[in-house]
Amino acid sequence: MIVKTGWRDRVSEWKAHLTDWRMLIQKGLPLALALVFTSATILTVLGARDVKLEYTSIEQAKNDLQTNRQELATALAETQRLTNQLNTLNSDMQTLLEKAQQEEELVSDKIEELENAYTQVENREKQQWVKPMQYKVCTSPFGYREHPVAGEAKFHYGVDLAADAGTPIVASRSGTVTVATYEDNAGYYVVIDHLDDYTSRYMHMQKFIVTEGQFVVAGQIIGYCGSSGASTGAHLHFGIYHNGEPVNPADYISM
Ligand SMILES: [Zn+2]
Repeated sequence: MIVKTGWRDRVSEWKAHLTDWRMLIQKGLPLALALVFTSATILTVLGARDVKLEYTSIEQAKNDLQTNRQELATALAETQRLTNQLNTLNSDMQTLLEKAQQEEELVSDKIEELENAYTQVENREKQQWVKPMQYKVCTSPFGYREHPVAGEAKFHYGVDLAADAGTPIVASRSGTVTVATYEDNAGYYVVIDHLDDYTSRYMHMQKFIVTEGQFVVAGQIIGYCGSSGASTGAHLHFGIYHNGEPVNPADYISM
């Protein structure tokens, strides 16, 4: 019966154990499950938070990149715009330079043209002098000579042209009459200012028919041949002055 008793005891013991296990399972399992669940939840939350953080930083980086890309695009567009502007400026400068060169050539040509025209005018001015009178003979040229009245060697500031009394005397060039008067030596005489540093004088006239301030043209009658003043016979003393200095009329008029 020991065996019997032992078996019963053993059954009872097992039963008790079983109850313990059941108790353990009944009470422990939920706890264990709760623990596992909690842990899992915590891990999940933590993980999600990390993922969220990671996602946020990726998003941020993406935004930053986007911003950088936009800034680069803007900078590139600005650079392109500046490059275009520079190209345009360069092109404009080139055009201006070419234009300036062309204008310089034109101005150069114009200057040459003007210089030629000036020379022509100058020549024409020289040629423009006309004979102040239809004379018979030049009795006294320009330069040193024995004065016909004073009888001593003196410089003759003009040419003496002999003609009949009353022969018309004309303005040798166009200009303004600055003197038309009588003087003991020059007699009735006229001075014409030709307005380009030249003047001409006409002395010993029988009479003059112009007034001071009058404008006369080349060839216009200004008076008549005579022998007034210090003169020995009917003649015209004709003189040309350049900047106040006497010059030889023979250089301006074919005598
Ligand atoms: Zn004279």
